[in-house]
Amino acid sequence: MSEERSLNFLEEIVEEDIAAGKNGGRILTRFPPEPNGHLHIGHAKSICLNFGLALKYGGKTNLRFDDTNPTKEETEYVDSIKEDVKWLGFEWAHELYASDYFDKLYDFAVTLIKKGMAYVDDSSAEEIAAQKGTPTEPGIPNQYRSRGIEENLALFAEMKAGKYPDGAKVLRAKIDLAAPNMHLRDPLMYRIKHAHHHRTGDKWCIYPMYDFAHGESDAIEEITHSICTLEFIPHRDLYNWFIEKLEIFPSKQYEFARLNLNYTVMSKRKLLQLVEDKHVEDWDDPRMPTISGLRRRGYTPASIRDFCDRIGVAKRENMIDVSLLEFCIREDLNKTAWRRMVVLDPIKMIITNYPEAQTETMFSENNPEAEGGEGGRELPFSNELWIEREDFMEEPPKKFFRLGIGLMVRLKSAYIVKCDSFTKDASGNVTEIYCTYIPESKSGNDTSGINVKGTIHWVSVPHAKTAEVRLYDRLFRVEDPSNEDGDFKEYLNPDSLQILPKAYIEADLAKAIPGKGYQFIRKGYFTLDKHSTADKLIFSRTVTLKDGWKTP
Ligand code: ATP
Ligand code: MG
Repeated sequence: MSEERSLNFLEEIVEEDIAAGKNGGRILTRFPPEPNGHLHIGHAKSICLNFGLALKYGGKTNLRFDDTNPTKEETEYVDSIKEDVKWLGFEWAHELYASDYFDKLYDFAVTLIKKGMAYVDDSSAEEIAAQKGTPTEPGIPNQYRSRGIEENLALFAEMKAGKYPDGAKVLRAKIDLAAPNMHLRDPLMYRIKHAHHHRTGDKWCIYPMYDFAHGESDAIEEITHSICTLEFIPHRDLYNWFIEKLEIFPSKQYEFARLNLNYTVMSKRKLLQLVEDKHVEDWDDPRMPTISGLRRRGYTPASIRDFCDRIGVAKRENMIDVSLLEFCIREDLNKTAWRRMVVLDPIKMIITNYPEAQTETMFSENNPEAEGGEGGRELPFSNELWIEREDFMEEPPKKFFRLGIGLMVRLKSAYIVKCDSFTKDASGNVTEIYCTYIPESKSGNDTSGINVKGTIHWVSVPHAKTAEVRLYDRLFRVEDPSNEDGDFKEYLNPDSLQILPKAYIEADLAKAIPGKGYQFIRKGYFTLDKHSTADKLIFSRTVTLKDGWKTP
């Protein structure tokens, strides 16, 4: 992947732990997605970090679905998350679900009640919030806080048995209502929710809160390093409190800065809105920052892993420029993509001194960056070619090394041509350009002695096939749409998708392989879209050849 770099702070911690013989040198991390949406590039960062750390130090990683919230989770998401993690190139040790621990978690709660460290509270959410105090004022205990252990055990059992409606009671940890850390002011452990769960069905009507479930799940699995994002720093004391009081495996929580990428949004809630409001086709729209979107766009797992590696592991929030992600895919595709010729905005060139009925077959290798070129393909050549409209100018400026009256260029893998004349339609658009070719200038066997500065791509008119080509731009027109006034959707880029209904492609591209990257010479890297069919080929641009994006 990337060149030698110094250890990040998590690697330092792991190395210290190994040196100290902690947990017998064993490393077990976990990736804990909530199955309430599809994974995005931010999750990829967390995946690369958790799996990468374990791989580097001979450990393992669990995939644990954090499915404690029954109403928001769906099996569809579980499947897509597994697909995405695998696609990124990682193998988990065990596929686990926090919901598998509901019985154990219930027993843990009972243990704390028996120790006098948890109580059933009948207050409403509003009352609890009002009694909690503020960071500068302590909270006030209510009458339920002094309930006896037996009463708490009986009430908690009744909560589980379904005796009470949603919101009627909660189970709270009895910690410290004056704690400077608000998370320690008797946090909720369980709430009543009569809801169907995607795995446990209707077995439960009480569900554990994240803070009670997460650390306990880590401990049950004996996770050694539980890595999460910075917003969980204030939860760490509570994480440790539960583990200490329950006397269970001492998992430890470590926090790093989440990945923020400019010109997009990353929260699943916002991505869902884009899908539901039809601003994008679906979660895998090639403009989405989701793993499935990036995959459909033509990103490779290696490029995403490289990106995650390059951004490193920070302890402070920052914003990563999306051009770094684009740089990584360009680097990768430059080495692997097969070169092809495609004319996106066509204009016809007629070679007046080339016999009309003649076809000649040129040859070009697939990948000049690879040893042996990875084979090649035949390029039929004739007297009529499609070339790019922008490669001709009626009045070319001095350093224009393409076509204009009297100018010469090389046709890639073929001959040098000289432009003699052109025609225009009634509205002044150039319709055809007329050239003569130099017979002795054939690529690979050029005896003409003519040197030209420009090389352009082309497709033979009688041999060309057509395809729809989709070009993408940033999904948003501002760097940080979530931080602007009003709704983030007001900042969508109206020109993020440009569809070219009829591009001319070289015949060989009709055999394009799904999932493979192709470099359309001079035009960027492209891949077949999932909607492409034999009758209607559709190519999506993964990225341009150079970073051409300027802040407007
Ligand atoms: P979102 O806010 O996008 O809905 P989330 O944090 O609720 O994300 P989870 O499914 O709970 O999503 O996340 C699974 C794991 O991925 C967590 O450990 C979380 O910290 C991590 N993660 C989520 N977003 C990012 C991000 N942008 N950068 C790094 N890690 C992330
Ligand atoms: Mg979450």
